[in-house]
Amino acid sequence: MQMTAFGKVYVTTKDKVFQPSNPFRHATELTRILRDYHSTDDVNLEKTILCLMTDGGPDHRVTYETVKTSLIQLFMQLDLDMLIAIRTAPNNSWVNPAERCMSLLNLCLQHCALDRKEIRPDFETKIRHKSSLNAIRNIAKVSPALKTAFGESMKPVIENVNDRFRRMKLKNVPFTVYKGISDEIIDDQLSIVPISTQGDADETVFNPTANSKDFRECKALQEFIKMHCSSTHYAFQIMKCREDPCRYCCINPWRTDEQRVEKLSFLPCPIPDESEQVYHSFEEASTLNLFSFNMTYYKTNFLEKKVDDSKRPSAKNSSDFDDFAVEFDRKNRDILKSQKIRDIIMCGECNKPRVIYSAKKLSDEQESLLNRMKEEGNFECGDSFPEDCGFTTKRCLSCTAEVEVNYYGASLRGIRVTCCIFCGNQDDLLVDTDPYIEKLYESFSVVRPICSTCRENGQEAKT
Ligand SMILES: [Zn+2]
Ligand SMILES: [Zn+2]
Ligand SMILES: [Zn+2]
Repeated sequence: MQMTAFGKVYVTTKDKVFQPSNPFRHATELTRILRDYHSTDDVNLEKTILCLMTDGGPDHRVTYETVKTSLIQLFMQLDLDMLIAIRTAPNNSWVNPAERCMSLLNLCLQHCALDRKEIRPDFETKIRHKSSLNAIRNIAKVSPALKTAFGESMKPVIENVNDRFRRMKLKNVPFTVYKGISDEIIDDQLSIVPISTQGDADETVFNPTANSKDFRECKALQEFIKMHCSSTHYAFQIMKCREDPCRYCCINPWRTDEQRVEKLSFLPCPIPDESEQVYHSFEEASTLNLFSFNMTYYKTNFLEKKVDDSKRPSAKNSSDFDDFAVEFDRKNRDILKSQKIRDIIMCGECNKPRVIYSAKKLSDEQESLLNRMKEEGNFECGDSFPEDCGFTTKRCLSCTAEVEVNYYGASLRGIRVTCCIFCGNQDDLLVDTDPYIEKLYESFSVVRPICSTCRENGQEAKT
């Protein structure tokens, strides 16, 4: 694609401790920008279709129920007819045009001192040796005044950073800066989802700290997703109903003109060419008619959930590792064994736990470093850790690889959550009294957990 327009850069600066990024904060802050600059009535988006392209961070993982819910919030707040949210595959943020402003943002932070103002001495003492964000947040739960004081002390830093960003331009268009939005407004904006989906009695589920499981159990929301959304590994798309509109779509009818609605379809998944090494370009795929914009196709492929995204990069063959990874695991074979297990880290891409190995017991410093990595949520199977950090996972692991048998060993007993060895799923595991599992226990002393979906797909339990 040729980029001719660069668009405008909006930057929101916030305090990472008490205004942490989460999908709902993103949706709310984006709604504010779009209403300020791209709305004629300060509520609805002027355009009726919105496409978002984000990087692969945990707040944008469109397979998470929290992220889906936040996108539905955005869709409803702006009365969109269609929302397409795609994220880049791991290590491919560079293809995202929005990422191009990053170098400019870095540039203007050169030689910028970022020290916050000191707060009350007793508060300073309390947070002095806290190395993770959660540790500080936990103290604030006990003494709420800390949160206010910390916010005050961060103000000059945020002002300072924003002042620098405000002076920047991209292709002569100046940046616009914002400060983080308050928790109350985020709560308030999210409430449109239970109200509009005629939420079941349990509206309390809808708060920014709810987890994916809470949303998965919310019937009205799931019904809305089933009726209006297409969900694949890298894309989540929402569209109003056409024939026979539901309650939401009756109250909020299409704003796009009728002829264009006819032609609308969800964006299909990339389609590999004959070599299976590269994907057809969008233009190629449409001229070759590899997907067609007709209603029958839309119904069978999207509404009935038969989307084939098996060609995505993270589903590539699990034995296809680069030489560095193979060499790394060979060199470290004395560490990558059950006696050296220290902890686990979750893969943000496939949600499977991966085992952390280290020659020695982790020091406090190493533990803080690892905890920060876990908080960031950016780890993906096979990733390398900083060379001198002293701990590692196996490098010859991809997201398609099973959970390591070592995960189920005795060393992780206290911290392990039981999950399916094939897919990492923690729900719907076959119980010991299941006839299939019971039968296996007659001949084997160990049967690894397996979920009902994997079993239905023909997997045999590991013994
Ligand atoms: Zn509808
Ligand atoms: Zn993974
Ligand atoms: Zn499974």
